[in-house]
Amino acid sequence: MAGEWDLLLGRWMYREGRRLEIHPLVMSPLPVLTVLLSPIGLLAFLALRATRTAHAARSRATAPAARPDPRRHGRNGRSYADAMEQPPAPSRLDRAVGTVVGSAVGDALGAPFEFGEPGVYRARFGDGPGEMRGGGGWDPGEATDDTHMAVLVGESLLEHGGVNGQDVFARFQMWAAGDPKDIGLQTEQVLTGGDPWDMAAALHFQMTGRAAGNGSLMRASTSAVFFAGAGRSATMAAARELAALTHGDRAAWEGTAVLHELIRVALEGADPLAAVPQALAQVDPGHRARWAAVLAPDWHPGLATEFNGAVWPCLGSAVWALRTTSSFEASLAAAIDLGGDTDTVAAVTGALAGAVHGIGAVPARWTRALHVPLPGWGNRVLRLAELTELAGSLAGFHGRGQSVGPGG
Ligand SMILES: [Mg+2]
Repeated sequence: MAGEWDLLLGRWMYREGRRLEIHPLVMSPLPVLTVLLSPIGLLAFLALRATRTAHAARSRATAPAARPDPRRHGRNGRSYADAMEQPPAPSRLDRAVGTVVGSAVGDALGAPFEFGEPGVYRARFGDGPGEMRGGGGWDPGEATDDTHMAVLVGESLLEHGGVNGQDVFARFQMWAAGDPKDIGLQTEQVLTGGDPWDMAAALHFQMTGRAAGNGSLMRASTSAVFFAGAGRSATMAAARELAALTHGDRAAWEGTAVLHELIRVALEGADPLAAVPQALAQVDPGHRARWAAVLAPDWHPGLATEFNGAVWPCLGSAVWALRTTSSFEASLAAAIDLGGDTDTVAAVTGALAGAVHGIGAVPARWTRALHVPLPGWGNRVLRLAELTELAGSLAGFHGRGQSVGPGG
């Protein structure tokens, strides 16, 4: 048993560790080891402390006084003191639920502001993160086509244990026939044109030459959670395959693949912003430069060359909103305040920010009002409980990975 002296020693080591900002992963076992077992922990700690003190003295002597960058210092570079004071990092399940629910919340929060001017959201809510309000035909907390389609994809993946394009397409068609309040132009033309499921999007693209809308990005939360455990190549391949069902332009496939990969990284507890270069390296070379431009660290929505209903500025804006804020709420406020296709930009932002911050960061006043009526599927309405259940099933399913890449 540890005596009083041992406990005092342990406490001193703990305080010294904090003062010297020794990383918690290195630091935490040492006082315990010393108190319970042997002086080995103490010796290791004294050596560590000497190195750290010498290093600190050297830096003080050579470096100009620098202000820590709070964002750099954030998720991954947390100091020991920060780690001790902040709540524990979200679990993988928290992040998976955060992805699915976060996307739905962003969709519902942004819906009343669709096609509005920039700045309208902040003008309404001041600098605060805002409330669920109705408007534009939407009830407060009502999710739109973005979430409808994400749910349909998620349920198909669970039922088939992977991508069954024909089944997803059929579910989309049944939904479209249920007269949803909103449906993307591109998506509607492909689903209702009467062409076979595996050719409809490609034929539409051939005819119109226009298929780079954000309609495959907006529904990606569920498939990104489902395929995250299968690794980078598998999740990006599945994303392309699902995007290709409605969007014939490879730009949309590649953007959806990048979003899947960034969510995969966030679900691992790592920083998706730091993973952008690796994701870009997997992007089709013919599309890489354009994606690299909107995902660059210094890009901002003011540099967009298209309306944010297009796939590039939509994902670029979501990544920008994540990069320039430090909370789930603030990221959505930033996304919606951009105006334009606010529900979809916020749905994509909410998926990313939910994966990073976890469901614990999604305010209850938003999730309470959240509801997802499913046109074409009777009177089904999903709420927080059903979405949480769906996300949990998607995250816990491990028999996937049969994806074979884009069809059509
Ligand atoms: Mg929508």
